[in-house]
Amino acid sequence: MKKYLILLILVLVFMAGCNAEESGGQGSDDETTGETPTVGIAMPTQSSERWVDDGNNMVEMFEDLGYETNLQYAEDVVENQLSQIENMITQGVDILVIASIDGEALTDVLDQAQNLDIPVIAYDRLIMNHEHVSYYVTFDNFQVGVLQGEYIEEKLGLAEGEGPFNIELFGGSPDDNNAYFFWDGAMSILQPYIDDEQLIVRSGQTEFSQGATLRWSGSEAQERMDNLLSAHYSDEDIDVVYSPFDGISIGVVSSLKAVGYGTEDRPLPLITGQDAERPSIRSIVDGEQTQTIFKDTRLLAEQAVEMTKAIIADTEPNVNDTETYDNNVRVVPSYLIEPVSIDIDNYEEVLIDSGYYDEDEI
Ligand code: BGC
Repeated sequence: MKKYLILLILVLVFMAGCNAEESGGQGSDDETTGETPTVGIAMPTQSSERWVDDGNNMVEMFEDLGYETNLQYAEDVVENQLSQIENMITQGVDILVIASIDGEALTDVLDQAQNLDIPVIAYDRLIMNHEHVSYYVTFDNFQVGVLQGEYIEEKLGLAEGEGPFNIELFGGSPDDNNAYFFWDGAMSILQPYIDDEQLIVRSGQTEFSQGATLRWSGSEAQERMDNLLSAHYSDEDIDVVYSPFDGISIGVVSSLKAVGYGTEDRPLPLITGQDAERPSIRSIVDGEQTQTIFKDTRLLAEQAVEMTKAIIADTEPNVNDTETYDNNVRVVPSYLIEPVSIDIDNYEEVLIDSGYYDEDEI
């Protein structure tokens, strides 16, 4: 009898093992360790809506796969992000997905990840100066700038010889590799018009370093715009502001309104942006900001999740660019997604009809 009991227990134990393997087949178990994979997700800040959407999208998608997640925001403080990533490593995450604050500040934590064989996916922003950046998912960042520049070119009729127009230029954060791509893309369109004086930069601040905005700060941009207006636009109006990011655009609009722009007699200039954040779409609907760039964070999250899944299963993730993103140590294999230009004419179709936003959020 005892013999049968032992046999029965053995059969039950065996069956339980089979069940666990089956659920692994559905993707909830780490193929190598037999445990549920945990993904450490380090995001820069909740002060910009896009990162909140990015984080939520990823958590939802990973949870659908049965993965565990550890999502952290560092509120744009580099040291916070470093200790958050260190904690994730100590807690034994299986993989890291990182949207860095300062792309050059992660060397030590990436050394730690490398020593423990924890793969790292750079999310949206490239991590610089380290070989242990396994993959990169992002948008076509040069194209973001091109779309912003082309919008200005088209709306002002620059190719048809219109002008001169007064323009001021804002850059993104100098510690974010993307900021250079946006600027270079925009300047690939605008520079010839600056050179032949169809576009006049009255401040003379035409270099990225002069227009850069540390940590993409809207209030810093607002302050710079205040200074530009009082120093260079007391007797002439400004016609265009090249802004690379919605948070900067909102700061610029506030500065302009404070000195009397935004009336019928003195309309606001054309102002670009990026991220299609809700406050900026509202601003576009209200006739303040003019344009933005939509980067569908659902698609970016989906790619990051696909890459993670492939890496955990020890297979090759899908990439579509192996040339553009050199982090000074290696060209990081990347997956790029196409950005879309948005203004008053297409926001409903692209953002609302697609279900990205509900009408009442705008
Ligand atoms: C992102 C942009 C964003 C900016 C500020 C960049 O790295 O690519 O989408 O506007 O950071 O958060």
